[in-house]
Amino acid sequence: MSTGTAWSVALTGLVGQMVEVEAAIGGGLPRTVLVGLPDTALYEARDRCKVAVASSGLSWPAHLVTINLSPASVPKFGSHHDLGIAMAVLSAAGAIPEAAGLRTVCFGELGLDGRVRSVPGILPAMIAAHEAGFRRAVVPWGQVREACLVDDLSVIGVSTLAELVAVLAGRAEPRPVAGAEPTAPEAPAHRKDLADVAGQAGARFALEVAAAGRHHLYLHGPPGVGKTMLAERLPGLLPELNRAESLEVSALHSLAGQALTGLIERPPYTDPHHSSSPASIIGGGSRVLRPGSMSLAHRGVLFLDEAPEFNPRVLEALRVPLESGALTVGRAHGRAQFPARFQLVMAANPCPCGRKDSRGAACTCTPSAIRRYQQRISGPILDRIDIQQQLVPLSRAVLRSTGTVESSAVVADRVAEARQRQHRRLAGSGWTTNGEVSGPYLRTHLPLPEGLDLLDSAVTRGLLSPRGVDKVIRVAWSIGDLAGVDVPGREHVATALGMRHGVQVPG
Ligand SMILES: [Zn+2]
Repeated sequence: MSTGTAWSVALTGLVGQMVEVEAAIGGGLPRTVLVGLPDTALYEARDRCKVAVASSGLSWPAHLVTINLSPASVPKFGSHHDLGIAMAVLSAAGAIPEAAGLRTVCFGELGLDGRVRSVPGILPAMIAAHEAGFRRAVVPWGQVREACLVDDLSVIGVSTLAELVAVLAGRAEPRPVAGAEPTAPEAPAHRKDLADVAGQAGARFALEVAAAGRHHLYLHGPPGVGKTMLAERLPGLLPELNRAESLEVSALHSLAGQALTGLIERPPYTDPHHSSSPASIIGGGSRVLRPGSMSLAHRGVLFLDEAPEFNPRVLEALRVPLESGALTVGRAHGRAQFPARFQLVMAANPCPCGRKDSRGAACTCTPSAIRRYQQRISGPILDRIDIQQQLVPLSRAVLRSTGTVESSAVVADRVAEARQRQHRRLAGSGWTTNGEVSGPYLRTHLPLPEGLDLLDSAVTRGLLSPRGVDKVIRVAWSIGDLAGVDVPGREHVATALGMRHGVQVPG
């Protein structure tokens, strides 16, 4: 009996676990069996591997071939184990040196013609392998750059199984990684500049405060006033991701099947349409669990335009990530947890038809329809939103005016300074931004020396709910941080209160 070993990775969410693939040849009639609680998906893998090996000018052993993937307890979904299975069998058959499979992780799907196909999740798989002490990896050629994002990992990219065998048998040199696809241009959302937004000084300021304190934001206004334009410009105001955040965000996008040629270093932006399936927004899938828009917005911005139109399941699903920064998906075939610490920006029209408050055509919605529309965003979600901003249609004169408008770069500098103030002030609290700070912490550790009478008076007159008080205080801190003061003064509280009064919405 001859044996061979190779290594693959099983992914559950972003968590990868090493899987040892063992193959043994001999001891019975010619057939191939899988042992160790194999999933039906692995029988498909076995059949693909047999055909791929034959197509590559090699032969599948004409004996009993026993394949074991361990640990047995790890669910082994996905087609990316193909490469490891083929490697183990070819190693047992003597087609490649036995030592080749040792401490080398293989991750890729095989086509029936012997091609090595790209698979989602290369980056989290390589991170897991590296953490487990592996220093060499074989991946599909199209994803070689993505695998190389992990430091201190020697990566071999191959297009076909025949190429892999030639390289491991020492008959060919691995192709230099420099020949792979160059870095893709950055997503357009990050190039959009605040200087393009005409007028809307109040909304621009609200966006700046939201960026500074990482406050969730709700924009109200008729269609065409620039709600989407503003939301798209929020990522450009946010600080760059640090190395750990960058790796985590990139791994999530890799898992979603997005081709990566470099690390994602800017906060991401996702804007799912309200007609998208809940699974595509929340995350999920029938067998292999994939992150949805909420997780792809992790450490960045999730924009829900026409928010009341979203499926109630989606709106309800916002609660957990807004609370905990993560969400769990999956049911029958296991569960996976995905990070989802996004900054939420919602936008809504004033009514279902969108014409209320706009110039020109008259609104046809009944008062009860308008009320129902506005109530579709539930109280627990609104509780998490510190800033609600009303946008009004601009007059032609404003649109024609050519006054200088600040660029994103100028605003981002102020935001960066405001963030540094928060980091220093909140050091040791577990939070880094004003938007995350809880009400009790706010009241005990960050009392306002001035301006409380303004809040009391607003509560007395019924203009502000007790919950609203915490929000105004959080926003006042961010306004103070932007102004470069150590503690917000009366004028900052007044500005924050004014921002709250700009819109008459519950919460
Ligand atoms: Zn209407």
